[in-house]
Amino acid sequence: MDLLNWINGAFVEPATGRYLDNVEPATGQVYGRIPDSGPDDVHRAVAAAKAAFPAWSRLTAAERSRILLRVSDGIAARLDELAAAESKDNGKPLKLATTVDIPRARDNFAFYATAILHDHSETHDMGVSGFNYTLRRPIGVAACISPWNLPLYLFTWKIAPALAAGNTVVAKPSEVTPVTAYLLAQICADAGLPNGVLNIIHGTGAGLGEALVTHPDVPVISFTGGTVTGAKISAQAAPLFKKLSLELGGKNPNIIFADCDFDEMLRTTVRSSFANQGQICLCGSRILVERSLYPRFLQAFTERVRALRVGDPSQDSTQVGAVVSEAHRDKILSYIALAQEEGGEILCGGHPVQLDAPYDKGFFIAPTVIANLTQDCRTNQEEIFGPVVTVQPFDTEEEALALANATQYGLAATVWTSNLQRAHRVASEIESGIVWVNCWLVRDLRTPFGGIKSSGVGREGGFEALRFFTEPKNICIALGAH
Ligand code: NDP
Repeated sequence: MDLLNWINGAFVEPATGRYLDNVEPATGQVYGRIPDSGPDDVHRAVAAAKAAFPAWSRLTAAERSRILLRVSDGIAARLDELAAAESKDNGKPLKLATTVDIPRARDNFAFYATAILHDHSETHDMGVSGFNYTLRRPIGVAACISPWNLPLYLFTWKIAPALAAGNTVVAKPSEVTPVTAYLLAQICADAGLPNGVLNIIHGTGAGLGEALVTHPDVPVISFTGGTVTGAKISAQAAPLFKKLSLELGGKNPNIIFADCDFDEMLRTTVRSSFANQGQICLCGSRILVERSLYPRFLQAFTERVRALRVGDPSQDSTQVGAVVSEAHRDKILSYIALAQEEGGEILCGGHPVQLDAPYDKGFFIAPTVIANLTQDCRTNQEEIFGPVVTVQPFDTEEEALALANATQYGLAATVWTSNLQRAHRVASEIESGIVWVNCWLVRDLRTPFGGIKSSGVGREGGFEALRFFTEPKNICIALGAH
């Protein structure tokens, strides 16, 4: 499948005339080409978005809502096609794309299409002397840059609130997983989204990132991706005083106390470690277990992990698909080698998985559990973002918290205990943007979402995202003398 950029309501060739291969992770085979866009494509897309802004921002919330609801319906109508495209593009099990990723993308549009109808701004009454009220106005052209792990879900998570709030958008999906973004352009066109309101350009961060981030007509940037890229974008955008939201990497702790519901904890911990091949920013990658439970946990956990079925992502029985690319596979394997150099013991996995043709050149890694590493080693400090977790015992609640908080990251955490007071106490002490208690990934779309420390700046989700994509303007009225 060959893709094109979508600019001003038309599918167009990149100005560079260059294309990149799109590789299917499960087979390692090239199955299409995508535009390798450059600064000229960015300029065209931003010009189209800028021209579309006055009319789009002046529509009523109800008018914008109707169009965005049609986009949501369009995603629903093409759910199976989108899920198949995402699974092929990303290597994830088709079942996961069908039941989680694409439904959440549909819901993102429905949520923001209706949220905008219920948003309100503030009035501050100063009694006899006057009152102030706050208008919240869309900002202009928003740049939305997203990663490859949840391609359509994270893409729409940014685009939907930006559009609902009345901005126009230039969006860049990861070049590693571009197909669902291309299909979304078709859906938006069918839904009657006016030309130029959403523009989608394909290519690499290196080829077009700087032109987009530093463009003088782009006042607001929403980025999800790695912490190193986030720092680079921040350094480029800060001197230009752009509004910036950064959702970055993590090294999430999963704290398991001996008094937890063992079966529920075990089932969920397998999922929170290896769902999407461990390539969800919210996956737990450091499992901390109270020492009295540690032997039982290791035995039961490794038994379950060994039983996970790695294979053809299109099969319903597959639980672990391919990781996203050859380069990413090599990075994950290099971390497994590093863990061994650092004294880690591989309890299970730790190697690529060789499947039969046509998957014999795919990027499969056995789910991996590593023990006997200290918290300060690189394996326990750096984000691996693959099917690899470490396990460490702890003796006291204080020690568990110290271990949990001992990284530069602060995105998500999980706590397992039946002690209600301890659950709340530990949850409040963990340095992270979100803490799950006795569950994982149970999250209402209205919740503000984001990380602290090196995991991000700003909050997305819920009404926070509508706030982010608007600029408050205060109007101050004096009532005058009687
Ligand atoms: P990257 O940071 O490599 O890339 C993210 C996006 O930014 C891609 O579209 C990439 O393009 C683009 N990009 C790269 N360089 C630049 C640049 N200089 N200017 C502008 N855009 C640029 O992340 P990955 O795609 O590898 O995604 C994995 C990371 O995302 C992990 O660290 C993960 O934790 C994080 N993540 C965070 C989430 C959160 O909510 N906090 C959620 C999901 C993932 P290209 O790839 O085409 O070069």
